[in-house]
Amino acid sequence: MSNQSANNASAHTASTKSVTLKIDGSTGEGGGQIIRTALSLSMLTGIPIEMFNIRAGRAKPGLMRQHLMCVQASQQISNASVSGATLGSTSFRFAPNAIKSGDYHFDIGSAGSTSLVLQTLLPALLFANTDPNINSTVSIKGGTHNPLAPTTDFLQQAFVPALAKLGMHVDIECVQAGFAPIGGGVIKATITPFMRRADSKPLTLTKRGALTNITLVASVLNLEYDIGKRELASAKSVLLESGVDDSLITTKANKLDGIGEGNTCYAQVTHECGDHLHHEIFTLLGEKRTSAEKMGNRLAGLVKRYLFKTDALADEYLTDQLLLPLALSGGGQFTARVISEHTKTQSWLIEQFLPVKIAFDTINDSQTLVQIVC
Ligand code: AMP
Repeated sequence: MSNQSANNASAHTASTKSVTLKIDGSTGEGGGQIIRTALSLSMLTGIPIEMFNIRAGRAKPGLMRQHLMCVQASQQISNASVSGATLGSTSFRFAPNAIKSGDYHFDIGSAGSTSLVLQTLLPALLFANTDPNINSTVSIKGGTHNPLAPTTDFLQQAFVPALAKLGMHVDIECVQAGFAPIGGGVIKATITPFMRRADSKPLTLTKRGALTNITLVASVLNLEYDIGKRELASAKSVLLESGVDDSLITTKANKLDGIGEGNTCYAQVTHECGDHLHHEIFTLLGEKRTSAEKMGNRLAGLVKRYLFKTDALADEYLTDQLLLPLALSGGGQFTARVISEHTKTQSWLIEQFLPVKIAFDTINDSQTLVQIVC
């Protein structure tokens, strides 16, 4: 088999386009994702964008610190001309130039999600049109464990392995953990330029095979170690009661480094899928007035819903996050438990920029086939 690669980037980073794409930021789910994905796709295609009605339906409309960081970081890596992007602004213009690989450092300046800033930049840096042997690095300071966003654990244990199946190689290190309200976390990603193999086939993640293991992990940042151990004990006992075999469950309690305080627990659930493994992650963040036992119980509930209420491989969050990498790497298909508003909005936006078709075919109440045809 040929190792010679055909860099797919050229398909998307062709000449800089001059017609500006106007994007109504209140479309569909209408949150931060539409801003981030529009930036990613603008950089990749060279199409300038004008966004308006940004987060129009939210309690605090406009660009929050994390979104502004996404615009500024994208500006830096693509030497873009930007106007109107300030804290709270509900519109801005962004016109990219060539993407530059390199070593970047960004500080969100709040506990805003480092994962979401990284996900904005990853497609561009994967396709940065330079020497395939030169990696880019990005370190981002802010929150590593945020509500309503993928945690660093989610990126490392579910998103990165899924990208690897597409031939996209990213390594993510949690240098310091950061939880709201203080933040102060740091992640560092190393991105290898993506070279699409001439013989690569569209990804197929459709049939769930045997369950191979469930890894339960609980971590504390400057809180009692015992909290994590109690979360694990509670999650494990609920899973055992529901019939999961003891030999399939592994538990691990961690102490995180960083400033401030925090607690998180997650379950990594792994199934066979053809000749590879599929990993799903379910994450919870500790809350004041919620006992460790309740957290463990809730975590087990998320795992049980995935194990026993659906045969799909991708759960809600991985579904919307997989669409763009798949659209950029030749397409594919996968089964999803649920099609969220995020997923519908993401597919609409991708189709505005790229010559792809994203289809959702309902299999039953708890399973939909998602097909990305390039
Ligand atoms: P937005 O609400 O528009 O800022 O987008 C939030 C993003 O975070 C989406 O891509 C979601 O899939 C992702 N997300 C939200 N909650 C979680 C979670 N618990 N685990 C993983 N990803 C999440």
